[in-house]
Amino acid sequence: MGEEMKHEIAIVGSGIGGLAAALALHRKGFKDVAIYERSESLRAEGTTITIQSNGWRALDQLGVGPQLRDKAILIEGGEEIWIDRGRRQRMAFVTGEVRCLKRKDLINALTNALPPKTIRFGCNAVAVKLDPQTMSTVLQLDDNKIIRAKILIGCDGSNSKVAEYLGSKPTSLFTVASIRGLRNYPNGHGFPPQFVRMKLDQGKNGSLDIGRIPVDDKLVYWYISVPLSRLDGKFPDDPELMKQVTLKIMKDFPTDAVEMIEKSELDTLTFTRIRYRHPWETLTGKFNKGSVAVLGDAMHVMGPFLGQGGSAALEDAVVLARNIGQKISPLNLSGEGEGQSMMNHKKIEEALDQYVRERRKRIVLLSLNTYLVGIISGSISPVAKFIAIVLLVILFRDQSAHSKYDCGKL
Ligand SMILES: Cc1cc2nc3c(=O)[nH]c(=O)nc-3n(C[C@H](O)[C@H](O)[C@H](O)COP(=O)(O)OP(=O)(O)OC[C@H]3O[C@@H](n4cnc5c(N)ncnc54)[C@H](O)[C@@H]3O)c2cc1C
Repeated sequence: MGEEMKHEIAIVGSGIGGLAAALALHRKGFKDVAIYERSESLRAEGTTITIQSNGWRALDQLGVGPQLRDKAILIEGGEEIWIDRGRRQRMAFVTGEVRCLKRKDLINALTNALPPKTIRFGCNAVAVKLDPQTMSTVLQLDDNKIIRAKILIGCDGSNSKVAEYLGSKPTSLFTVASIRGLRNYPNGHGFPPQFVRMKLDQGKNGSLDIGRIPVDDKLVYWYISVPLSRLDGKFPDDPELMKQVTLKIMKDFPTDAVEMIEKSELDTLTFTRIRYRHPWETLTGKFNKGSVAVLGDAMHVMGPFLGQGGSAALEDAVVLARNIGQKISPLNLSGEGEGQSMMNHKKIEEALDQYVRERRKRIVLLSLNTYLVGIISGSISPVAKFIAIVLLVILFRDQSAHSKYDCGKL
């Protein structure tokens, strides 16, 4: 084995989940927490993130809620507009505290609350292994470095190496992709503080959704859900091409929507294929083993249809740190000696078991709810849509229940 590094707690990935986990653990008094991130700098892909009441509760527990509230206006409701039918309907799930943050603001707030040098950039984890000499788990990086940690948390997203070690199946792809961007209106946009979703039935091509949410008085976030069938197997990675594709397929939308996209700065555009873990896999999957567990998209990547994946990662972080803190003190975790190590190992295992137990019910319901909404907006099969609607009505009558969830105190 190559060069070794040792930590009490190692986290793989510095996305929202990894940063929130590190901050939650730090606030519980665990000081030797290191994040290993494969990128060379912080990533804030996807321009913005909508945080609903449940996410704000978690951010308050992490101590960064107040400063972030100043960064985005309160969204006071939502409306769905069927352009071709002239129908309008209130979006029942947009209630409580909803704000659309720039991802950069969220990532920066979490990072700035951490001690300097918590994140090690340019560290690509390639495997989690059992060291046959010590029988402990180690993280291996692609430059052959080995990370030994008493607790290892995988926050490495939808293609997680840590989840792979735990035996998770690869994630799946929805039949829609998302193109997102930001439009800056230097003199103010004049839109109401509302989430507006415009829908257009395009016959055999299925329906097209365009969403618009103001970030502040001048900046507006938009997204378009594009059925993959409309892309002829080509995935636009160049922003100019993304804009052309978007403008081409939205030609029957109102002029202010077309103009919003036409005049967006190219460097704000992103194209994302939508991954998810089947709800039944979140029900039966193994998300911890010994001193290793996963968090965020690594555990429960879900479509963006309810705007809850990131907030669920924030909740995970609070619940994880609370459970670790309840079972083991920072002083005991740093203790050495065989007896202490064995005791620690048992307590860590119990804490991670409890964390996954607590989170499973929440993420199964969230994943299922998101999956059903995704089928309604993305599937071209009327039968699949009908079944999804029936299940939604039976299982998720209160459409805003997902944002009323409280992950509790840190
Ligand atoms: C189109 C779209 C819109 C969305 N909108 C919303 C929304 O409005 N609200 C909301 O709450 N959620 C939303 N989500 C979901 C949200 O973006 C994710 O749930 C959230 O970003 C997950 O964070 P994460 O830290 O778990 O994973 P990621 O953000 O994927 O971070 C993983 C990190 O791990 C690093 N990494 C990966 N592999 C390795 C490795 N082998 N070694 C080292 N580092 C590694 C990556 O570089 C990355 O930094 C949306 C998702 C999509 C696709």
